[in-house]
Amino acid sequence: MATKYQKAVAIEKENIVVDGVDVSGHWNRMFEQRVIFEYTPELIEKIADIPNAESFANCYQCAKCVAVCPVDVVGNYGPRKLYRYAQTGMDLTEAPELWLCTTCANCLRVCPKEVNMVKIMPAAREQAILDGKFVPAELQQAFENTAKSGNPLGQPQRKRDAWIQSAGVPVPIIKDLGRKVSVLWYVGSYPSYHPRGIDAAAAAARIFNALGIDFAILGKEEKTTRDSQRPGWREGSVRDDDRAKHRDLQ
Ligand code: SF4
Ligand code: SF4
Repeated sequence: MATKYQKAVAIEKENIVVDGVDVSGHWNRMFEQRVIFEYTPELIEKIADIPNAESFANCYQCAKCVAVCPVDVVGNYGPRKLYRYAQTGMDLTEAPELWLCTTCANCLRVCPKEVNMVKIMPAAREQAILDGKFVPAELQQAFENTAKSGNPLGQPQRKRDAWIQSAGVPVPIIKDLGRKVSVLWYVGSYPSYHPRGIDAAAAAARIFNALGIDFAILGKEEKTTRDSQRPGWREGSVRDDDRAKHRDLQ
């Protein structure tokens, strides 16, 4: 990941003795400033100019974020590194790194400069989409499925409540019940359709029954929240006519 971006080169003097102490090689790295003059701010400003992504420019490279970033555990990531990659030539809107952040907000919790990846990443992703840049095939498919079928899995609306047959306990549908309930449970698209999600929905239904909770679901009337695509756009940027279109499809 990101190996194509040039790393900062530390300046070392091969042979140097100071006050009788041999500080040759890596011992004298701090004697001279690294060649930061070769870095370019343009690609940082390009991100920071996107509405909601302004805080990208705040980073002062303290590195507190990297230690808490779950993506760095499996790769080479974190806001500090993204900032550095941008400094050394990476256009974030065109890079695969754009799509790796989970927007978990771990980095925001520890960042002294309030670099907010929860806002930066959706804004940059939306800009990339609007500019016709690379979009991961899975996300593209989710967008298309939602546009065509009203849910990211592309499943028919009439099957939205089919999962209740595998729950092994009663799962009332509010419309059939004809009365108010204590808990109206919004199940969601993946728990309604995806095999692993159905397992979780069925388990939750069994727990609700075991606890004696007075609940019901919306059944076929339930609409998607498009939550699975949320990291791909800024909050509030989906147009009203787009929302209406999805409602009609359902
Ligand atoms: S914690 Fe904040 S200021 Fe420090 S490196 Fe990470 S993003 Fe930059
Ligand atoms: S919000 Fe993104 S960059 Fe920040 S810790 Fe989570 S995955 Fe890493």
